[in-house]
Amino acid sequence: DLHFSVFPWAEQKVVFITARVHPGETPSSFVCQGIIDFLVSHHPIAKVLRDHLVFKIAPMLNPDGVYLGNYRCSLMGFDLNRHWANPSPWAHPTLHGVKELIIDMYNNPKINLEFYIDIHAHSTMMNGFMYGNIFEDEERFQRQAVFPKLLCQNAEDFSYSSTSFNRDAVKAGTGRRFLGGLLNDTSSCYTLEVSFYSYLLGGAAAAVPYTEEAYMKLGRNVARTFLDYYRLNSLVEGPLAPTPKTR
Ligand SMILES: [Zn+2]
Repeated sequence: DLHFSVFPWAEQKVVFITARVHPGETPSSFVCQGIIDFLVSHHPIAKVLRDHLVFKIAPMLNPDGVYLGNYRCSLMGFDLNRHWANPSPWAHPTLHGVKELIIDMYNNPKINLEFYIDIHAHSTMMNGFMYGNIFEDEERFQRQAVFPKLLCQNAEDFSYSSTSFNRDAVKAGTGRRFLGGLLNDTSSCYTLEVSFYSYLLGGAAAAVPYTEEAYMKLGRNVARTFLDYYRLNSLVEGPLAPTPKTR
């Protein structure tokens, strides 16, 4: 939970990030680590982000499943990412707690929850990519595509062409789908997926194996993309590009 208190607006803009709801998806923890490391760093972009945004991060939604070495379920055998609609305080306590926090923020008129990103790892796809929601409102739908497009410019391993927007019934209980229906029309909810094994660079035939460092770099690139997003929307001053490269 990184909470900083210098705000030029009365309304706090909040980015909420969760990871490791599926305990076998270890890469999601490295991506989340990269986000956190960047946000608390001395990088000039990190400082601007801290001055303008509140980042709330729940780095491990399924700690008991991780402890037990489960692939997908919690201690009680639940896939927590199918229980967002009605989490029980005893059967899905971490999910229940995080959802209460998100709803409290949503109901607080001084807080605008602008992004929700849930980090996963994918066992068959390559690269990093996102899932987003489909909305009837065309403008909202288009606005939702902006963040992944900007991330694609910053992260060589992130694929916009693998990014998709859907409303399959099978994904109805996921954080991204549930919060996309709950939060207001200025908020964007995504699932961020990263491959368990490798990524393809543009034009290259050979896949590059992911390393822990490459996962953390994706996290750093996710974090700095928020500055591009808020500059594009004129909420932070300065030219959109180029921003100093993260290493
Ligand atoms: Zn997952």
